[in-house]
Amino acid sequence: MIASTSGCWADHAMRVSVLDAHAPLVVAPGRDAEALPRLLMSDSVKLEVVGLAKRYGSAHALEPTSLEVRRGEFLTLLGPSGSGKTTLLMMIAGLIEPSEGRIRLDGADITDLPAYRRDIGVIFQNYALFPHLTVFENVAFPLRMRRRPEDEIRTAVHDTLRLVRLPHLAERLPRELSGGQQQRVAFARAIVFEPALVLMDEPLGALDKKLRDELKLEIRKLHKELGATVIYVTHDQDEAMLLSDRICLMDRARIVQIDSPPTLYRFPNSPFAADFIGESNLIPAEIAAGPDGQRGLRLPSGHFLATSHSDRFSTSGRVTVLLRPERLQFAPGSAGQNEFCGEAASVTDLGGTVSVLVKLAGGLQLKVVGLGGTPGLPKPGESLVIRVAPEDVVPLPNPEPEG
Ligand code: ADP
Ligand code: MG
Repeated sequence: MIASTSGCWADHAMRVSVLDAHAPLVVAPGRDAEALPRLLMSDSVKLEVVGLAKRYGSAHALEPTSLEVRRGEFLTLLGPSGSGKTTLLMMIAGLIEPSEGRIRLDGADITDLPAYRRDIGVIFQNYALFPHLTVFENVAFPLRMRRRPEDEIRTAVHDTLRLVRLPHLAERLPRELSGGQQQRVAFARAIVFEPALVLMDEPLGALDKKLRDELKLEIRKLHKELGATVIYVTHDQDEAMLLSDRICLMDRARIVQIDSPPTLYRFPNSPFAADFIGESNLIPAEIAAGPDGQRGLRLPSGHFLATSHSDRFSTSGRVTVLLRPERLQFAPGSAGQNEFCGEAASVTDLGGTVSVLVKLAGGLQLKVVGLGGTPGLPKPGESLVIRVAPEDVVPLPNPEPEG
């Protein structure tokens, strides 16, 4: 029933989508030629959220939000606590009623369907298993709800328990399992009916770090094997970076950026995004002409930085420059273009990496991260020169003033 190869799940999803396809996806030959490209395009779109919003009185849990999730994609909603991640996920699941907006799954509008009719599997942080049911019966539950025949239930539950590596624990009760095992059962229960979409809300949040790391890799492997479409919620950037095809970064009830992990890291679109993903030096700067007339950035200290990303400049003169600590290098000699003179204020040796806080003239401080054990790492109090390549000088637009 549950296929352990991507092909079967994908085929199944495809079949469901064709059967479920409602009017907008059905084009009579020759009748609506313009609709055809849209039809082809929409085939890769699994879930479509349009203008979805949630208000509690005057409080805005989610501003009107639009989002497309592609078939087979692993998309992560990442953001600080209170940014609206759970609200968005639970509206898609049908567990919170939207104030406005529509949700389409495989082209069909599901906004008004009750949760149990949505063909969506959901996994929560606190497992939410039925305490009085065995592992087998917990996993069988969604199939019993759907009135599947007994022999089909048996096969599907056993196959799914094998997939999450728990076939030997089928007769246990949840309280006889470790946290990691309970979460695997919850995972099995969410996928046993081969849902069109799997939603996970901080599923590893209650586990210790070692188990989290282990389960992270398992989730990634399962996603690849099943070819399932997943929306995953976390506030942990490492988890998001490891698991996701794309990360949807959220802040204060809004989506602020959607990109692949490497793009989000290299080209965040705001100081908030830069600060949330990885480590950063963020410095106010002004767009200016350099000594050779080229466009670049002038720092408050008077330093001029050439950048390969002048096409990213906004029209306004003020930006924030992002310099990633591990992209800064220690250079010999005296400072030239794209180099700073400074003094090592502190040196923190973490074994694998060494973090150096460098004080520059004019009160500016830069964090530099180098590989541990490499020759030429500075000692506290030492004078030094830092170099940054133009491709690592990334200008970011300043946020719009609130109001
Ligand atoms: P996240 O999952 O990103 O931590 P949530 O989606 O849970 O954030 O919450 C987003 C915002 O909506 C928060 O400010 C939260 O306090 C508010 N909120 C969530 N549920 C309710 C509710 N039932 N009543 C009032 N405010 C709520
Ligand atoms: Mg939440």
